[in-house]
Amino acid sequence: MRVMQNMTIRRKLVSIIMLTCIVSLLLAGAILVVSEWAALRRDMVQNTSTHAAMIAENCKAAVAFEDAKDAEETLRALKQESSIVFGCVYVKSGEPFAIYYRDDADSSLQPSEPEDEGFSFDGGLLTVFKCIILDEETIGTVCLRSDLQPMYATLKDKSVTVIGVVLLASLAAYLVSSRLQRIISGPILNLADVAKVVSEKKDYSIRAAKQSNDEVGLLIDAFNDMLEQTEARESELLQARDHLETRVQERTAELTDANRKLEDSIKRANLLAKEATQASEAKSQFLANMSHEIRTPMNGVIGFADILADEDLTEQEREYVEIIRNCGRELLVLIDDILDFSMIEANKLETEITSCSLGNLLNGIESLMRPKAVEKGLEFRVAESAGLPSQICTDPVRLRQCLINLVSNAIKFTEEGHVYVNVSVQEEDGELYIHFEIEDTGIGIPSDKQDSIFEVFTQVDGSHSRKYGGSGLGLAISKRLAGILGGRLTVRSREGEGSIFSLVLPVGVDVRKQPFLDRHNLAEELRAEQAKSAGPTFCGQVLVAEDVLTNQVLMKSLLKRMGLEVTIAEDGDEAVQKVVTGSFDLVLMDVQMPKINGLEATRALRKMGIATPIVALTAHAMKGDDSRCIKAGCDDYLSKPIDRQKLLDVLTKYLPSKTEAVHDKSNATT
Ligand code: ADP
Repeated sequence: MRVMQNMTIRRKLVSIIMLTCIVSLLLAGAILVVSEWAALRRDMVQNTSTHAAMIAENCKAAVAFEDAKDAEETLRALKQESSIVFGCVYVKSGEPFAIYYRDDADSSLQPSEPEDEGFSFDGGLLTVFKCIILDEETIGTVCLRSDLQPMYATLKDKSVTVIGVVLLASLAAYLVSSRLQRIISGPILNLADVAKVVSEKKDYSIRAAKQSNDEVGLLIDAFNDMLEQTEARESELLQARDHLETRVQERTAELTDANRKLEDSIKRANLLAKEATQASEAKSQFLANMSHEIRTPMNGVIGFADILADEDLTEQEREYVEIIRNCGRELLVLIDDILDFSMIEANKLETEITSCSLGNLLNGIESLMRPKAVEKGLEFRVAESAGLPSQICTDPVRLRQCLINLVSNAIKFTEEGHVYVNVSVQEEDGELYIHFEIEDTGIGIPSDKQDSIFEVFTQVDGSHSRKYGGSGLGLAISKRLAGILGGRLTVRSREGEGSIFSLVLPVGVDVRKQPFLDRHNLAEELRAEQAKSAGPTFCGQVLVAEDVLTNQVLMKSLLKRMGLEVTIAEDGDEAVQKVVTGSFDLVLMDVQMPKINGLEATRALRKMGIATPIVALTAHAMKGDDSRCIKAGCDDYLSKPIDRQKLLDVLTKYLPSKTEAVHDKSNATT
């Protein structure tokens, strides 16, 4: 069947018809030939048997009387039957009695033993035996043999005829089927042609012509129906595509519009951000200026209050002066807090991480805070756990600020009991952190307020600011500072029982390379140093360049009390002139002055090669002031209001003390 797979349908149909015809004709021919063969055999047996019976009948007397001649005569009658080639009459004993051969008979034919009545086909011959019966007694046997060749010749003729008929019938079948196959193949081929055109041209409007109502007709109907559906779908698709294109165009337009709006929004946002940055910068600048403006008069207030406190005053006057000093300091703290917070908010707060002495830091806190705690009758203790490093790496100024704020709060909100500062080092995720725990037995903080106290201007109770003072900025700043320094600030507290504020910061140094903290030795060193510098007096000439009258008077009286000769310059120009013409041991140069400012004046002096030590006085207290002063050529800087101790430190650094000067003089005279 595979042979047919690639044939055209036309050929297939013809082949099938032809094959069917030939097979059935051959079968019919074969049946015909076989039945003919059987009939011929039957006829031969019958004919030969009839002759054998006739011979047996006619030879009865000859056999009975043993007349061989008569028997032979009877046998010779067989000449009339050309198919019989041999005849023989046997006597009862089985001996051949008379024999007949056809003239052209094969001489090899010999009489065989007589057998019972019957026939057999053998060696191209039919052999028939017939008994000779006389008075119901077998007295002999007749044997006849017929040649089968004539029968085979007839059979051959018939077979040739049959083959001829088969061939003729096949030819006729071929001719007929070739014509009639078109009835089936025609519509199918037509359908195939239509399908080809449809698939090539993608034209679904073409239809196949239906020629009959048979299965092929149904197939064409189904095909046309399918084309109709495809055409409908195609047109729907086209419509959908058109619709989609319109939608895409619409969406693209919408997107372009949205994009434009977005770009506009981004531009506006950038503009707003720029404005916000400018506003923030303006705010920072404003705060810096305000800080300067407020610090300058505060400098006067606190400075003169300090000077007044040294005077001989009545009890009440001393009390008033003390109030002025405290109010001034509180105001200064508030200004510092506001300035710090604005810097943190504007992300402008820079830290200066350095290696610093933990001992010095704790001593500083202790010496500042202990008197306040003791004044309130509280027990105060700085408790260090074992293994603390002597140095840590952080911003010491900011750390001190946080600790002072936390300890001040602890003292402020505790009426009795204790305030402890517990310091320890603990490991977290393989890193070492220093823990400062400020523990008090004060009023405590309700649990629902423990988060909000870290927000700006937030206090547990509105009455706190009246009762305890404070602005609600300290914890907000400390928390943010802790974050900036890579740590955290948290609180645990129970209302009415007390609070523990934990400030945790990275140690920042390899503790194995550090000696352990020993504050006892440190305190000894500090005391020795303080003893050395107690109440120093200096000698030398100092030029104070300062435009504000209050500050001029303040600096003058402070410096004179320390044994120094003081000259005042009103502005930068005058300062330069006076330094050039006079001989000063130290210049205290205010940064903000009319004409040329302190930094420009310093630059001018350094340009002229004047090496007199210059200490800048800055009221900004802003980060970066120090580096600006040093860059301009100053040797040091002090921020206003001038801290008396810091002023002393600077004078000690640049001027000889009176005892040293006397000593030098006596050495010179001797
Ligand atoms: P201020 O102390 O200037 O008001 P802070 O930000 O330092 O501002 O503190 C905010 C508030 O948190 C305080 O007003 C107080 O209500 C509460 N608080 C801070 N520390 C303590 C403390 N140790 N004990 C009880 N309450 C405290």
